This record gives sequence, structure tokens and C-alpha cells, in this order.
Amino acid sequence: MTWSAPRALIDHAALRHNLGAARRLAPTSRVWAVVKANAYGHGLEQTAATLADADGFAVARVEEGVRLCEAGVSRPILVLEGALCADELAVAARFQLGLALHHRGQVALLEEAAPPAPLACWIKVDTGMHRLGFAPAVVPGVLEVLGHRCGGVRLAGLLTHLANADVPEDTSSVQQCRALQALAAGRGLPLSIANSAGLIALPAARTEWVRPGIMLYGASPFVTGCGADLGLAPAMTLQGPLLAIQHLAAGAAVGYGGTYVCPEAMPVGVVGVGYGDGYPRHAPTGTPVLLRGVRVPLIGRVSMDMISVDLRPQPAATVGDSVTLWGGGLPVEEIAARSGTIPYELLCRISPRVHLEHLPETAGEPAGLRQ
Ligand SMILES: *Cc1c(COP(=O)(O)O)cnc(C)c1O
Repeated sequence: MTWSAPRALIDHAALRHNLGAARRLAPTSRVWAVVKANAYGHGLEQTAATLADADGFAVARVEEGVRLCEAGVSRPILVLEGALCADELAVAARFQLGLALHHRGQVALLEEAAPPAPLACWIKVDTGMHRLGFAPAVVPGVLEVLGHRCGGVRLAGLLTHLANADVPEDTSSVQQCRALQALAAGRGLPLSIANSAGLIALPAARTEWVRPGIMLYGASPFVTGCGADLGLAPAMTLQGPLLAIQHLAAGAAVGYGGTYVCPEAMPVGVVGVGYGDGYPRHAPTGTPVLLRGVRVPLIGRVSMDMISVDLRPQPAATVGDSVTLWGGGLPVEEIAARSGTIPYELLCRISPRVHLEHLPETAGEPAGLRQ
């Protein structure tokens, strides 16, 4: 056995393949690769290096943008939540980060600070999600202020975020697109609307700039189905080692609370991964893991450092085997659905104690597509 801790294999060929898929959907759009939350758990700097062909990178926070700059990224960087105070704005100006502006306080900061070199600013418009953004009615006034009184601003365009794009038949997404287009009419401003779901399912959202996140990592943004159905390759495979095999008698209770009771004499495997690594504690009995190419079910409660699995379907299991929790051969979407969550949460909650092992790009297809 060469390793005892869980690891996440990051397939850089898959990342590039998925960026290509995003580009093919909107060949005339420019692409911000969304790399917030440590590139959805895949490693910010390494992911940005692999996706260097993107037209820019989008992050949630100034701090994330600074990390990209310090890693040598020279493409435009957009901070989706903008700068919230003068200090943050000064940092954004120093690193020339693009900012989304969503409330008047941020505009006032820019008026006061007057950054020496103009910052690319996107006006975030609330077209129906009711989270961040200016109401459409006040946008003309904001544009006026930025155009006339803010020397440190280069107005880059209008941006909005879709609330229901993960349900393609929901008509509110089209209405959101129309609301933004109506505001832009006659102003010649670039628009940015699409997240992954909008990019894949909503042609009206494929405007000057698109903002795919989850699809770059190979997971589906939709409520059902998985990335492979969309031609995407999973970029992360989470693995843990098989630490032990127990031969238990009928009636033996397994794990905390003894919630699983062996129906017969059976082999039970203990895998060294748990909720302390980011595996969901709510994964119920029956959630599959992959062991030597065969699905075996999780049994009993998920512990901090371990889970137990029913080894009856895989008699060849050997201590030291590496067990796949999700990724190539076992879609993260399936584990998320079983656990009552979405792949986004599972990917970005990988804990820092999971070692990210970056697999260099090879000439061939990404591993996830070869299965
Ligand atoms: C996270 C985020 C995205 C990317 O969304 P995906 O569903 O992961 O493609 C795009 N735009 C904004 C504003 C976001 O916050």
C-alpha cells in the first residue's frame, strides 16, 4: 500500500475538453472560466493554468482574483461580487481586477477612489433572481454616474444571473434575457448572461460573454442527468483506500448507531474517507462506491474519516485497493442526488486534507470519456 489518505485525481485533459465543449456551444462568445471556490475544489492556480485559453477568469471575491494574478494569470479577471470596501477596491485596482457592481455603495467607492488606471466594470442587473444586482429601473441612472463622474471606470457591459436555468423548460430564463436585452438596447453594451445551464440550454443567453462553471469540471448543471450525457468528462475522481475487511456474522450492527445490521454473514470493507474529507455525511445506505470496477453499496452511517461498504458484490477486494467515491465511472451527480445535494456542493467541499493529484494532460482523450 503506497498511500493511506484520500486523494482527488484532477484530470487536466478533461478540464480542457470541457472548455472546448463550452466554446463549441457559443463559438462567437467570449468565455470567462468560472474558477471561484478553489475552482470548484479542483485547485485554483492549476486549473487556471490548464484553462489558459479561456478569454478570462471569473471569481467570487477579490482575494481569489489576487491569487490568480499572483499565479501569473494575465487574462482579464472578473470579481463577480465586486469590491465591498475602500481597502478591497485599492487591492482590486492594484491588480487591475474587473468588478461587477451590484449596489450604489460600490459606485460611491469608485467615485471616491478614482483608481489611476480605469477598472473594467460590469453592471450587475437583477432581472428576476432577486439576489444581487440593480433593479432594471435604476440602471440608466447608474450608467450615467459611471459614464460621467467616475474617471476610474471603464464600463464593460451589463451582466445578469439566471435563477432557474437548471430547469430548461422554465420560461423565466427567457424573460430574464429579454429584460437585460431591453436595457442594453441602443447602448451598444456587451452582455453576459449564461452560466453553464444557460450556455447549454438557452440560446438567448449566449451573448458576448458567457460564464460556465460547473460544466468545466465535467458535471451537469441540470437537475437530472449527468455530464457524460452532455459530452463532458469528469475532471475530479475522489478515491480513498480500503483500510480493512471485516467478516461479520448475521445480525452484526455496523458503525455509529448500528443503523445497518448484516442480514447474513458477509464481508464488510472500511474505506478511509469520510465527511471530514468532504464526503457527504447524508449519503445513505445503498450509495454506490466503485471497487475494482464494481459498484458496492455504502452501509451504515458515514463517519468523519471512514465509511463501511458491503463487499458481497466484489469478493476480490483486497486491503489497500483504491476505492472511487465519485468521478470516472461513478458520476458525482448520482452521489449528490442520493445525498440530497448537488454536485457543486460535493466538488467544492473537498476538504484541504484531501491531496489533489494533478494528472498532466496527455495526448489522448480524458480518462472519463474512455470508460
Ligand atoms: C457561479 C457563477 C457562475 C457559474 O455557474 P455554473 O452554474 O457553475 O456554470 C456564473 N455566474 C455567476 C454570477 C456565478 O456566481
